[in-house]
Formats: sequence, structure tokens, C-alpha cells
Amino acid sequence: MPSPRLRTEAATYGVVLSDEQVAQFDAYARLLGQWSERVNLVSDASEDVVERRHFLESIALGAALRERELLRPDSGVIDVGSGAGFPGVVLKLVWSSLRLTLLEATGKKTAFLDALVGALGLSDVTVRTGRAEELAHEAGLRGAFDLAVARAVAPLPALLELTLPFVRTGGRVAAVKGSRAAAELAASRLALDALGARALAMPLRVPGPPQRIIVAVKQRETPSEYPRRTGVPQKQPL
Ligand code: SAH
Repeated sequence: MPSPRLRTEAATYGVVLSDEQVAQFDAYARLLGQWSERVNLVSDASEDVVERRHFLESIALGAALRERELLRPDSGVIDVGSGAGFPGVVLKLVWSSLRLTLLEATGKKTAFLDALVGALGLSDVTVRTGRAEELAHEAGLRGAFDLAVARAVAPLPALLELTLPFVRTGGRVAAVKGSRAAAELAASRLALDALGARALAMPLRVPGPPQRIIVAVKQRETPSEYPRRTGVPQKQPL
């Protein structure tokens, strides 16, 4: 296993991994590899790609959010469109006292997430199968989180509609975006107004192509009509 590299590279973000955490990341990569033989979880489940693209990028995101106190040791966090657990499960492995909800539309992926949470022995993690458009109207989930994270789920205007309803007033949405970050931010003006938030972009230091974190701060309660019906936020972005 290439774990010594994970530890070394995590340290460049100020994240010091214990032996137990390294073992958990190893177990995560192994389980992902096994499940990927029958379920489509990530486009490339090779250890090198999982470690560099998924583990380290999620660690970099967490470190940047910790540095700015947007992620705190006891934050309530929801990962919307978590897929195989990125970035949510990685954040939980590093900052173990987080309260984490993983939301994912595809049942095969949440079956993996359930197995993963069990195999890693994680506590305070809830896995929910369903669409953000529907679950964001559920009483226990709406306005219930300090932070929503999302990576590779939807263009920013739609993503804001899918994530901001989950956070409390004063809470944040943090989305990882690539080279289109500035354009997506510019295209999100109306969405931010309608949803009651403002947003800025900050750099995310990762190997490879430059990435940004878009951070949106929720300034007032999201009007109850948002998010709109399943599929509408993406088809008719605000
Ligand atoms: N965040 C992961 C997965 C990205 S793929 C990563 O960075 O690797 C996008 C995932 O979001 C898919 O698994 C898809 O099923 C899920 N998704 C997309 N739209 C969604 C929605 N409206 N509600 C819930 N999950 C959604």
C-alpha cells in the first residue's frame, strides 16, 4: 500500500495522520477496490487515483476549511451527492468528532457507504438515500447543518439550490470547483439572491490542475419553495 505517501502528503496540509487513521484509509481504499468490481462507484478505483484525487483533495478541502474555522471539531456536516464518500467520509476520518450525514441519490452507492461506515467503525454518521430536492424539505434535515459540502455534483447555481436549504442561517456551503469556478460564481448571482446567500472563491492547493473552493454564507432562511422539484434546479437554474 502506498500509505507512507498519503501520510507525507497529508502533512503538507498540516494534517498529521495517526497509524490508526492510515489503517482506516487503507481499509477504505481496499473496500472501494473490492466493491468497484461490481458497482460503479468512481471512474477509476486504482489506489493511486483514489489516494491522490479523492483522499488528498478531500483532506486539502478539510484543512482549508479548518484553517478558516468554517469546519470545527463538532460541526454538523452534510455531504450532498457523496458518491463513494468524497469528501464527507474523508473529513470524518481526519476530524473524527464531526457529526456527518451522507446524502446520495443512488442506492448502490449508499449500500457501499453503509458497508464502509460499518467496516471503519464510524460513529455519528447517517447515510441517507434520496434526492436533495426532496430531502431538503424534510424537517430534521432542513436548516439543520453548520456546513454542507459537495464535490462534482452540479453546476454552481443548481448546487446552491440543492445545498443551501440544508444549512442553518449563518451556516456555509463549501463546493470544490475546477477552472470554471469564477464563471460559475458569476453565473450564480440570481441564485444567491433568491436563496439568501453570498459567496466567494478561495484557492484549494492540490497537485494537478488548479482547484477552487466556493464558500457560500447563508444570510437568511431559504424560501420554502426551494429546492424546486427533482431535476428542476439543474434544468432551469435560477
Ligand atoms: N462527491 C463525490 C461523487 C461525485 S458524482 C465525489 O466527489 O467523488 C455525483 C454524485 O452526486 C452521484 O453519485 C449522484 O448520484 C449524486 N447526485 C447528483 N445529484 C443529486 C441530487 N440531486 N441528490 C442527491 N444526490 C445527487
